[in-house]
Amino acid sequence: MVPSSLILVTFIAKFRKLSISYKNFIRLLNIAEAYIRNRVNKSMVNFMESRLSIVNLLYSWRMDEARKRLEEKLDNEIYVTDLIYCPLKYKYQKIYRELALGVAFNPVALYGEIIHQGLERLLSILFGVDNIRVEVEYKKTIYLNLDNNTYIIKGRVDAVVGDYVIEIKSSSSDKNLPYEHHIIQTKIYLWLSNLNKALIIYITPNRIVEYQVEGAISDRELIGLVENIITCQQTPRYPWECRYCTYSILCPSKITST
Ligand code: SF4
Repeated sequence: MVPSSLILVTFIAKFRKLSISYKNFIRLLNIAEAYIRNRVNKSMVNFMESRLSIVNLLYSWRMDEARKRLEEKLDNEIYVTDLIYCPLKYKYQKIYRELALGVAFNPVALYGEIIHQGLERLLSILFGVDNIRVEVEYKKTIYLNLDNNTYIIKGRVDAVVGDYVIEIKSSSSDKNLPYEHHIIQTKIYLWLSNLNKALIIYITPNRIVEYQVEGAISDRELIGLVENIITCQQTPRYPWECRYCTYSILCPSKITST
């Protein structure tokens, strides 16, 4: 017997001054028991099925996105972000896929992504959705004499407003802004989009600051970056990269002295 159902029936009988027979009392009691048991079962099922976890939700979203990007990436595709960092990372992401996936849920990367998404939405409100395009994908094909191969250069621009490319960056520090690799990245976006002007906006705890970038990277410079990827010439591109690199746990070229 469920004690709460007995209390419920007694309560009804007493306070509503109902005059009920013993038989009807038992019937009412059974109905109340079944009702309460049903409620308890339902709430247990709801609790088990819908326990809320934002972390789990973010984790699934990031991992699904990262998995999709890795799986969809063709052998001759090179992303703009591949071109501005150590060429070995481009090679290792194909071999050590689990390590590549792990980066997706790095808190710093996730923090940056949240800032991107937030600012893109805010700019859509401020400019009006008809005057801005966000997450715009571009691609161009280039031919490399070095290995007689064709490569697809792909990039996703944060936003395009009028004839401006907008590149959003987050950083824990505002020292030495703007970074060289961010300028190169933005110039490659200009090359991809056939536009000529860009703004890099940095969101940092100390400064919110923007820099103008003019002029796309030249074809010759771009081919040089692609050749660097194919031949793995400059590893790493910047000495500080190894400190933050997910492949540093197995990389023979890791710089340990900085
Ligand atoms: S550890 Fe350094 S050299 Fe090795 S892949 Fe990473 S950035 Fe490149």
